[in-house]
Amino acid sequence: MRYSKIIVAFLITCALITAGIVTFYSYRYDQVQAASNQRSIREAINQLSYSEQEYRNLRDQVFSTISLLSHGRSAYNYVESPNLVTRNQLQLALASAANGQKWFDGVGFIDVKGIDTVHVDYLPSIHKTKALDGVVDISQTPFFQYAQSLEEEQIGVWAAELVNAPDSFTKPYTPMIQVIAPVSVLGVRKGYIVISVDMSMMVDKLNYSPKNDLTPAIVGSNGYMVTGKNMLPFYGDVSNQYHGFDLATFFPKTWEIMQAQTPAHNYLMEDMNLIVFKPIDKFFGQSIHLVIRFTPKQLNDRARHELNDVVKEGFFVFMIMLVFALPTISMSLHYYHRNIESKLARAALDGMTAVMISDKSHQVIMVNKEFEAMIGLTSKEVRGHNALKTLLSHNGMEFILNVLEQVDQNNLWEGEVECVTPEGQMLTTIMRIQAIIEAGKVSYYITSIVDISERKELENRLRELSEKDSLTHLWNRRKFERELMLQTQLVERYPNDYSVCLCLIDIDYFKRVNDEQGHDQGDKVIVKVADVLSEKLRATDFLARIGGEEFAVIMPHTSTPEAQVVVERLRQAIELDEGLTITISAGISDLSQDSTRSYKCADIALYESKTLGRNQVSLCLTTDEVA
Ligand code: GH3
Ligand code: MG
Ligand code: MG
Repeated sequence: MRYSKIIVAFLITCALITAGIVTFYSYRYDQVQAASNQRSIREAINQLSYSEQEYRNLRDQVFSTISLLSHGRSAYNYVESPNLVTRNQLQLALASAANGQKWFDGVGFIDVKGIDTVHVDYLPSIHKTKALDGVVDISQTPFFQYAQSLEEEQIGVWAAELVNAPDSFTKPYTPMIQVIAPVSVLGVRKGYIVISVDMSMMVDKLNYSPKNDLTPAIVGSNGYMVTGKNMLPFYGDVSNQYHGFDLATFFPKTWEIMQAQTPAHNYLMEDMNLIVFKPIDKFFGQSIHLVIRFTPKQLNDRARHELNDVVKEGFFVFMIMLVFALPTISMSLHYYHRNIESKLARAALDGMTAVMISDKSHQVIMVNKEFEAMIGLTSKEVRGHNALKTLLSHNGMEFILNVLEQVDQNNLWEGEVECVTPEGQMLTTIMRIQAIIEAGKVSYYITSIVDISERKELENRLRELSEKDSLTHLWNRRKFERELMLQTQLVERYPNDYSVCLCLIDIDYFKRVNDEQGHDQGDKVIVKVADVLSEKLRATDFLARIGGEEFAVIMPHTSTPEAQVVVERLRQAIELDEGLTITISAGISDLSQDSTRSYKCADIALYESKTLGRNQVSLCLTTDEVA
């Protein structure tokens, strides 16, 4: 029962601890992820700034290269006298430019009629250039018309377009930009130098970070990819296969912000993706965006180290709390139960009975409220005192010692006892003193006291009613017989030391009173006689009305001569009483061990008084011979 409670409490605590730790550490987890995202944003912004700078450098390189080639001697010689030698020279110059830059896809010379006469391609797989033989006529293409429209010394850029690269399987489509510079001799246009820039290779150069996820992508003004990594497939606008793969479709919120004249942010979290962007005006003639996108997985990977730390810390804290939880729970339960038990004990103590707990030397440790109310002593007043001695003081030291002796012998004493309160009030109680034994020795005494004073008083009153004569208020015959038996027993127990006398009294000629004065007056005479007799007797004497106009007196500690004196005094008192006109006759006997005989002897003596003329006292001893 107890263990199952501990287990239940343990499981509940575990659940609470888990919930608390999960809540706290998921908050920490989110915080760490957010901090990591902020770091990623900063890194991406730095990367994009670098990329923009790097782009300008690359553009300057292309422009200066094309400018050198268009004004160079080899181009001049070739247009002045196109022959095998000058062609080879020009081819050599173009190849050296392509080799030098590596991210040029190709360099070529187109004559004024639109014929591509000299052309060198760069082959990245072998890091070499290759001169292309043959003649290509591009005179009718929009590209050539654009070239013709260029001013002298003007460098033109033909917008990026997908070129089918025949020599590569890995890059079937290559995004390409054509940079064009006119070649003129003395103001007469002779042809054009064209540099094809491989955008995908150029993007690699824009990235300085060794981290792959920081490589920027180029997004065109229509939202479609030009090139780059970690974004969408390229050229959705021209390729049927990837049609619809544009930023506006996949990241509409981001695209909306990017479209703004002055964007509110340069990053946005959309669909769990973090997108950082930078607009670049006139990137080789076009408006583009450099974009870095972190996928949810990349964001998670970037924070993984710290997130793992958070998880480890959370687990560690969880384990620590579990280790402490078990002993804490069992201790808490223990104290909880003890508290409940002590509350129950207190509730039980504060019941109907007055309870006093004392130590082995009867010094009070505590009492309950009922005790305080009954005895009139507070717990504070009684603590440390031997209250039993005070309470039982009325019964005498001998009684107290006797009670304590019985408790020592039987570990229990129970009895009806008179207790006296500090205010002098006498209480009839039922007291029970119980010794609590621990390891064979008395450790406490628990005394319970029930006040039966009221009950006792009622009992006494009822008993008195059943033992008293209603007319004279003297003891009645029943009580007389009981008292006679009691005194006989005492005589029996102390035959030599204890002498008791019995006297029977009868009013003389009482019939006449009744007859002459009426029954009521007769009653009054009986009452008057009773009063005179009571008045003249000692407190220790026992007076009862045992018949109509008959009385009995039991006189303890009285010898027969003494009794004769006493009864004679009674006779005279009646005779001389001014309110009475009657006399009494009495018969005395000593009390022997045979109560019937004693009574008979007294009756004989009374009879004798009657026969001798009444108004006299006679004696008949139990030792006398009687018939
Ligand atoms: P004796 O001297 O021989 O005793 O004469 P006596 O008249 O007293 O005779 P006895 O004792 O035999 O009669 C008692 C009478 O007392 C009989 C009865 O009428 C009367 N008596 C008994 N009880 C009561 C009582 O309670 N009240 C009254 N008024 N009279 C009673
Ligand atoms: Mg009589
Ligand atoms: Mg009489």
